Amino acid sequence: MGMQSIGRPTSPFPSSVSGAETVSGSKGLLQHEDLIFEIGSPDKTGVDLPKPRGGKNRLGGVERQQQTGLPGLSEPEAVRHYMRLSQRNYAIDLGLFPLGSCTMKHNPRLNEKAARMPGFADIHPLQPQRTVQGALELIDELATWLKTLTGMPAVAMSPKAGAHGELCGMLAIRQALVARGDAETRKRVLVPASAHGTNPATAIQCGFVVDEIKADARGRVDMNDLRSKLETTEDVAGIMLTNPNTCGLFETDIKTIADLIHDAGGYFYCDGANFNAIVGRVRPGDLGVDAMHINLHKTFSTPHGGGGPGSGPTVLSDALAPYAPVPFVVKDDDGFRLVEETDGAADQAFGRMVAFHGQMGMFVRALTYMLSHGADGLKQVAEDAVLNANYIQARLKSVMKPAFEGYCMHEALFSDAFTADGIETIDIAKAMLDEGYHPMTMYFPLVVHGAMLIEPTETESKQELDRFCDTMTVIAERAAQGDQSLKGAPYLAPKKRLDETQAARKPVLKWTAPSPEAVAAE
Ligand SMILES: *Cc1c(COP(=O)(O)O)cnc(C)c1O
Repeated sequence: MGMQSIGRPTSPFPSSVSGAETVSGSKGLLQHEDLIFEIGSPDKTGVDLPKPRGGKNRLGGVERQQQTGLPGLSEPEAVRHYMRLSQRNYAIDLGLFPLGSCTMKHNPRLNEKAARMPGFADIHPLQPQRTVQGALELIDELATWLKTLTGMPAVAMSPKAGAHGELCGMLAIRQALVARGDAETRKRVLVPASAHGTNPATAIQCGFVVDEIKADARGRVDMNDLRSKLETTEDVAGIMLTNPNTCGLFETDIKTIADLIHDAGGYFYCDGANFNAIVGRVRPGDLGVDAMHINLHKTFSTPHGGGGPGSGPTVLSDALAPYAPVPFVVKDDDGFRLVEETDGAADQAFGRMVAFHGQMGMFVRALTYMLSHGADGLKQVAEDAVLNANYIQARLKSVMKPAFEGYCMHEALFSDAFTADGIETIDIAKAMLDEGYHPMTMYFPLVVHGAMLIEPTETESKQELDRFCDTMTVIAERAAQGDQSLKGAPYLAPKKRLDETQAARKPVLKWTAPSPEAVAAE
């Protein structure tokens, strides 16, 4: 095996190392760790509680008769358990996270500092509103930024994720149709074939019927197909379209699409998850959008992944603004207050989506990000995100196959057309794990065979992009040559190939203790 001048192997790793087992189960400095149920025991604890003082039992005979079976750990054991597990995971704080459509950008530490200020972190949603005027003002200011950046007159701040924002926008559309007396007839929502799965799911959740529009050879909405879908219009509720779309391309006919939908009597829902590509450059309101969610956890750098809280404020056009859900912040002579009831100022609201006002911690982080970048800085975010994606596309296009011709927006999309027979997208993704990278988004969008969608975001340096492209180049060449060892990857990850279908269809969600006989037999 050859070595590079800096001492790294020129081929991935010697096969003799790949299966290495150790006595302790740890490998190098990566510690072995069992399940918490296996290492814990009910008679251990990390806290020392005073003995209960007795008193009257008011549980009426329903008190628990047996141990809960929860594992007890000492504090150092608990700390190590989660620390060790965290090392088996990937994080944006570890490296480039190329997951397309997810905008995995750096989460600035300044955001965290602001979110931890006691005036934001230690307040309670049930506190009297006059004691939280600063927090309400912050929500109002963030709303102003979102309306200005999108060129839209209204925004519902409460949705708690992108998909939740979609639900908000589509419920507003449904309510507008109800108000027009059209809700019974207008049931059809057009959704491009390249859409994120949440789009059709949302439409169906709101009682609409999904009608799929084809993509054309350029990866955009097929305008002929769209026009044919609009030959009859009396049943059209609207369209749900992502722009830039999930092929990483700007929908060049977007204004015509908006006009066609409006002429048909429908509304234009834009999935704004890819706003990072155009923030500060394009105002969706100018494109004829009626509703669009914004993922604060993508474009505006609040942390996401691993089940952390998202935030999906949804901007609304004049036509939909009256139907925005409660609560929302207004300012009058007495200062800021939340409109909570669906009467008075909110008598046309479609209802309420969340218990309180939304994800306060994410609002603080997003506004911090906006203020620290300024309007000019946000424009540069979009420009750099697009530049970085095009750099990757340009560097990899000789070894991988771009799905469409021409420049991309914020993400580069490749098909599996360059791989030798038998080598698939999944094999490339698994080989990336061995090289220390989280895989790109794969097999999405569905309109591209074996899709590989790479979104570097603007926060990666050229050096980091080059290291990624150097790695991808070698993996892509192996795939093109039909290197069968790719089929066995990952060799170095803690878990090898998992049966993902079984895991999804028959998830094992409960740990059962091995029976004492089975342990004795080992
Ligand atoms: C991320 C994403 C969504 C969903 O957002 P969540 O916050 O994950 O619910 C919807 N559409 C597109 C195109 C996305 O990339």
